[in-house]
Amino acid sequence: MPDPEPRAIDHPAPAGARAALEDLAHAWRQRRGRTAQPRLYFSPGRVNLMGAHLDYNGGPVMPVAIDRGTFIALAPRADSHLRVASLVEPGECEIDLAAAARPERSGAWFDYPLGVALALRGSRLDLPGLDVLYGGNLPIGGGLSSSASICVGTALALAQAWGMQQTPLERIETALWAEREYVGVKCGVMDPTSIGLARKGHLLWLDCKDRSSEHLPLDDDRLLIGVADSGVRRELARGDFNRRVEECRAAFTALRAHAPGATCLRDVPLHVLDAHGAALDAPVARRARHVLEEVARTWSARTALLQGDLQAFGAAMVQTHASLRELFEVSLPELDLLAEVALSIDGVYGARLTGAGFGGCVVVLLHPRARHELAPRLQQAFARRFGRVPDVKLYASSDGPCEVAAG
Ligand code: ADP
Ligand code: MG
Repeated sequence: MPDPEPRAIDHPAPAGARAALEDLAHAWRQRRGRTAQPRLYFSPGRVNLMGAHLDYNGGPVMPVAIDRGTFIALAPRADSHLRVASLVEPGECEIDLAAAARPERSGAWFDYPLGVALALRGSRLDLPGLDVLYGGNLPIGGGLSSSASICVGTALALAQAWGMQQTPLERIETALWAEREYVGVKCGVMDPTSIGLARKGHLLWLDCKDRSSEHLPLDDDRLLIGVADSGVRRELARGDFNRRVEECRAAFTALRAHAPGATCLRDVPLHVLDAHGAALDAPVARRARHVLEEVARTWSARTALLQGDLQAFGAAMVQTHASLRELFEVSLPELDLLAEVALSIDGVYGARLTGAGFGGCVVVLLHPRARHELAPRLQQAFARRFGRVPDVKLYASSDGPCEVAAG
C-alpha cells in the first residue's frame, strides 16, 4: 500500500522520554529479532493548568502537552491480523482485520487501541496486518491522560501504516470515538484535543463549548511544570466523577430557566446562581459555584499569561485548588499536602490538583531556580505524613503525536 506521508523523520524523541523509547526498542528486538525494523511514534500526555472540571460544562480550559507519554512500535505482518501488546499493562490481543464481525470490548487495556483500529477500518476488510507494541512513561490512571495519549498516538500510527490521510481534527475524532463509544468512558473533548493539537512552547486555550482553540505561548525559560503523583488511585473514582457530571447537569437543568439562551452550565451568569442557588440541593449549588467561578478565573488566568504575569497565573491555580477542595469536593489530604508544601518553596508560582481529583497528581508551576528543591521538599513532607515517597517529575511542553527516529 502506498505511503502518502514522507518517511523523513526529523523528530528526535523528546529529551524526557528517551529512556522509555530505548526500553521499547529493546523489548521489540527481543520479541521480533532485528529483521522487522519497527516505525516508532511518540504521543504526549497532558496537564491541565486551568479550567478544572470545565470541559463537560462547556467552559474554557488551558491544557499543555508534556514531554512524557506513550511510545508505539509498529511493523507490518504478512497476514491480516492486528496484534497489540504493551510493556505497561498485562495481556495481549490479536484480531483478524479481514473478519467483518466487530470484536466486543473486553474491559482490558487493549480496548483503547482496538477502538481506534476499528474506527479507522470502517467497512474496509482489506487492511494489512500489523504488530504493535506500546510502552510509555506516564502514570496510568493518574490524570495525565494516558488514555487520550494512547488513542491519538495510535490513530496517527495506524493511519500512516494503512496509507490513510487524516487531519489532526479527524485524528482527534477517531480517538474520541474509541474512548467514548468503544471503551465506554464519557470523556470530554479536552484530552484528545490538547494532545492532537499540541505545540511545543505553548498551551492550548480550548473553548469546550464551540471547540475553538488558540495556542498561547509558554515561556520555557521562565517556567517548568512539576507533577507530583499522590499514588492514590481510587477504585470508585469513575463513579465519583460521574456523580459530579450528574450534579453539574442537575444545576444546569434547574438554572437554565433563569438564563435565557444558555446551552450549558458555563453560560449561566453568576448572579443567576446567587439569586436562585438556594433552591438547589446544597452540594449541587456548591458544584455550580465552582464551575461558574472557575470560568471567570480561567479567563483572568489567560489575561495574566498573555501579560507575562506568572505570579497572577499561579495565584489563580491556588484559588482553583481551594475551590476544588471546598466547593467541588474532589481533593484528598494527600493532594492538599502536596499543593501546600509546593507553595512554600521559593520560585513556585502556583500548584493545584490536576485531572478529575479523588487521587492522582498535583501540578506545580515553577521557575527553573526551584527545580532542585521541588522533589526533595515534597517527598520529605509527604513521607513524614503518609509514610511513603511520592513520584515527582519535571516536564517541559511538547508537540503532538509524531513519528520519531530510533536513536
Ligand atoms: P488517565 O487517562 O488519567 O491516565 P484512564 O483511566 O483514563 O487514566 O486511562 C488509563 C488506561 O489507558 C489504562 O488503564 C490502560 O487501559 C490504557 N493505557 C494508557 N496508556 C497505555 C499503555 N502505554 N499501554 C497500555 N495501556 C495503556
Ligand atoms: Mg483518561
